[in-house]
Amino acid sequence: MYRNILVPIAFDADHKPNDAIALAQTLSAEGGRITLLHVMDEVPSYAMSYMPAGFRDETRVALARDLTEKAALLENAQGLVIEGHSGRTILEWAEEHDVDCIVIASHRPGISDFFLGSTAARVVRHAPCAVHVMR
Ligand code: ADP
Repeated sequence: MYRNILVPIAFDADHKPNDAIALAQTLSAEGGRITLLHVMDEVPSYAMSYMPAGFRDETRVALARDLTEKAALLENAQGLVIEGHSGRTILEWAEEHDVDCIVIASHRPGISDFFLGSTAARVVRHAPCAVHVMR
């Protein structure tokens, strides 16, 4: 059982986070904390100038709302959106917040030829804590 679990959540249409969230609940110790975290990849400044004003901020607010709603169904959980690079930023957040288990899907469903997607691979290789990979 873990006291501080991180569940990285991707918002691509193919990724279905419900199994990872349910597993995090099962693995959580009594009173344990669960964080649902999405990392918004940085957009190069030249590309930002082609986006409608406010688009990125609105996206961030909508994603944060979605994660907060998911977290509200769990005990002692929070939803967070931060900016960065998916693999690297998940690892940094885990280290800075004393996470003791990361629950992550191995890759998008249907890409079964790949053992691990690029984000999952980086997390497994460099995590400062236990990692539960869902296949
Ligand atoms: P694929 O390349 O097949 O999409 P990934 O390694 O990117 O595989 O995704 C596997 C898992 O990594 C996702 O289910 C999710 O848990 C996590 N993940 C991927 N991208 C992000 C992101 N931007 N923010 C948070 N978690 C992510």
